[in-house]
Amino acid sequence: MISTYNLEDIANKLNISLKDLNKAFKKGILREYEYKDIKLLTFKKEFKHLEKGTVIFLNENLDVVRGYPKTYRAITLYPTIKNHFVDKVAIEEKLNGYNIRVVKVNDKYVALTRSGYICPFTTKKINKYLDLNILDDYPNYMLCGEMIGKNNPYTPFYYEEVEKEYENLGFYIFDIKEKETNNSLPVKERLSLLEKYNLPHTKPIKIVDKDIAHEEIKNIILELDKKGREGVVIKDLDMTVPPLKYTTHFIHCKDLEEAFTFFFDLGVDFIFSRVVREGFMAYEFNDEDLDKRAYDIGKSIIFPMVESIKKVANNERVTEDIELIFDSEEDLDEYLEFMRKMRMVIKIKKIERINTSEGEKLKVLIGKVYNKTNDKILAYLNGTVWSE
Ligand code: ATP
Ligand code: MG
Repeated sequence: MISTYNLEDIANKLNISLKDLNKAFKKGILREYEYKDIKLLTFKKEFKHLEKGTVIFLNENLDVVRGYPKTYRAITLYPTIKNHFVDKVAIEEKLNGYNIRVVKVNDKYVALTRSGYICPFTTKKINKYLDLNILDDYPNYMLCGEMIGKNNPYTPFYYEEVEKEYENLGFYIFDIKEKETNNSLPVKERLSLLEKYNLPHTKPIKIVDKDIAHEEIKNIILELDKKGREGVVIKDLDMTVPPLKYTTHFIHCKDLEEAFTFFFDLGVDFIFSRVVREGFMAYEFNDEDLDKRAYDIGKSIIFPMVESIKKVANNERVTEDIELIFDSEEDLDEYLEFMRKMRMVIKIKKIERINTSEGEKLKVLIGKVYNKTNDKILAYLNGTVWSE
């Protein structure tokens, strides 16, 4: 499909040279992808000034949507925040879901994942739950937000505020950016625009001077921790300095618990970073009861691991089970096809028809398969020796 487009136009639009464009293709960094009648190119990795997940739609305008930038983490609150920011900062709650950019393209509203694919599941849900005419008035904007709730395919995590008749799912906008430049609206402008269009969004918990932010955040983090929530993102009010994130003890444990259920697949990637975060947090929060922190972390690693070993020993396979709601079989098939394309290894465990006030829906239990964990546990149970 790319052959019908002038590569020079594409390179110009992306602000890179034709030589670099060809290089990106050759290296497999730039991939072609299509969803229904929408064709696009996706950057699978960061390239020149373009973030991973940047896309260019192969339409008349050659619309470019930049990838959502990485959010850096404060490991210590003090002096990191004081050093990083300029004057006042907004402290927002960090929601634990998956990042989505909503844009209007070819007269449709679509949901782009972090890696730059149009997710059919998310695209349907945002069209169902949101009134997106803000994008008719501002087609150059992208709405960046977090899709949260238990019934999502990527980061299933229950949030009481998105409990609906038949699913636990909802979208909160935390950033509005110009899609071609990645410039964000200032915090207050974003908030008033989202209020005007009546769109769900994260609201600052507090706006404070950067010099005292670390003290405020400590208290906020302790509260969020008690409530079993993820953390905060700290933002410059003008959005000219990149945001920073900081997370709770609760979520570090929760992440470890998940990772160590599938420890041969996820363990190595998760453990060191979480332990370091906890170490600095314990120091900065000046824990009276360091034993509790140590116990929680240890438990989050050992308990799920033993649970998985027991399951495999009982001839079960460990999978991550996710329950999703679809409007029709057609929607389900479309999403399964997408998952296959994304190389997600899954297994359908159960399909149920449920009655809702909107008619019949499908409730589908999907198991994500982690082969390495299953195979290695079995091998060790059968006496294989550790040779790594
Ligand atoms: P990265 O660190 O590269 O951004 P990640 O997947 O490791 O990626 P997270 O640790 O979840 O990301 O932290 C960054 C993400 O937090 C953002 O990409 C965004 O999706 C999410 N997020 C949730 N709530 C907010 C918020 N209020 N403001 C900004 N980002 C938020
Ligand atoms: Mg996240």
